[in-house]
Amino acid sequence: MPKYAFFKGEIVPIENAKVSIMTHALNYGTGCFEGVRAYWNPEEEQQFVFKALEHYQRLHRSCRILHMHLPYSPEELRDITVELLQREGYREDTYIRPLAYKSTEVIGVRLHDLDDEFAMFATPFGRYIEGEGGARVIISPWRRIDDNAIPARAKITGSYINSALSKTAAAQAGCDEAIVLTQAGHVAEGSAENLFLVRNGRLVTPRITDDILEGITREVVMDIARREFGIETKVRQVDRSELYVADEAFFCGTGVQIEPIVEIDHIPVGTGEVGPITQQIHDLYFDIVRGRVEKYRHWCLPVYAE
Ligand code: PMP
Repeated sequence: MPKYAFFKGEIVPIENAKVSIMTHALNYGTGCFEGVRAYWNPEEEQQFVFKALEHYQRLHRSCRILHMHLPYSPEELRDITVELLQREGYREDTYIRPLAYKSTEVIGVRLHDLDDEFAMFATPFGRYIEGEGGARVIISPWRRIDDNAIPARAKITGSYINSALSKTAAAQAGCDEAIVLTQAGHVAEGSAENLFLVRNGRLVTPRITDDILEGITREVVMDIARREFGIETKVRQVDRSELYVADEAFFCGTGVQIEPIVEIDHIPVGTGEVGPITQQIHDLYFDIVRGRVEKYRHWCLPVYAE
């Protein structure tokens, strides 16, 4: 359990970081957030925050869509993260949750003429999907929110109802996760993760205009696949039935990390085992995030002085 939170401009004991039941964001879902990971590296006794600035740049973009003003720049948010992690002193993998929210205690659905607050906490966190050997998934019975309804490119608290409906439908079907289709019936993403297929030795992933979050891990995957393995990614519309004929499939995201998908709608993906390209990307990703690959060390921000 976290001992501290960043709340109303300072680091306070977590029990003091409380909001009223009248808080606008609690009633109407008018907040936006990030999920950032910090990895413990036991050899160096160091913790590394992965892609910190990218997360805070995205938080700023989410805030723009929600008519919010964040009083901290991405660089300042990065520094607050480091300070909070130093105070917590975790010696394990950690998840950081920055949250910007409409804090006014008032009735009335809107985005304008409301105050904004920012908070952050950090908690130890292991795997998002438990169990070894890859995820078994369904196609969600719920469609992804459309850009013209609630923009999926913004990480908005209220829009995670769409994710929660899908995730619970998957659990009730005895599966680990759900893949959500767009209103037009094309593949968007997982309930809280982006998605890649492997077809004929190439990666395929849905376009950002197919109602997905503009994933940071998605960019990392495309980058390292090309640079380290010479594997190109085709970013294009993906049909539902392509999921059933793909050679390999995996989820990616800060929370889920790289998670192989071994079954979709009870049909095995490829051989039904974790595929070789997924495995390669998975293994390299975990070395990179722990700061073990010199070339990508600049993606990892040390929490303690080196
Ligand atoms: N899609 C959704 C809906 C998510 O919640 C997340 C997790 N942030 C992702 C994709 C993956 O994004 P990222 O790699 O930036 O964590």
